[in-house]
Amino acid sequence: MDSKSFYNEVLLDHNMNPMHKSSLPDATCRMDGVNPSCGDSLTLHLKIEDGIIKDGSFSGIGCAISQASADIMLELITGKSLDEAKRLSELFLKMIQGDATDDEIDELDEAGALRDISHMPARVKCAVLAWRTLNELISAQ
Ligand code: ZN
Repeated sequence: MDSKSFYNEVLLDHNMNPMHKSSLPDATCRMDGVNPSCGDSLTLHLKIEDGIIKDGSFSGIGCAISQASADIMLELITGKSLDEAKRLSELFLKMIQGDATDDEIDELDEAGALRDISHMPARVKCAVLAWRTLNELISAQ
């Protein structure tokens, strides 16, 4: 399997079987994010205790890329501190701009599957929606 089909597989799997798509009743904070250019609309729910993201989920509607990106992001940031989550989200945005090194992309784990989005300008806003919303949520803490 070449790396391209591996990445497609990752996106498809998160889209078909999202692990974090729920309402998370014990969330301590929420943030809405919209991407009008595609019609993606999601709400991020996080349970934050002592500066650590204990649990997280998303709800809403959107295209395959926005939904997969949200699910992958939550997988990555659950259990991390807010500082670390913020660092990872900045790294993700850097990757989407095409400026991240291979080592940095490795740190993003499955989110690296979205690296080729940098060559698809129309889909960039879909891919970054969840991460941008995460950044706003963290800044509001
Ligand atoms: Zn979209």
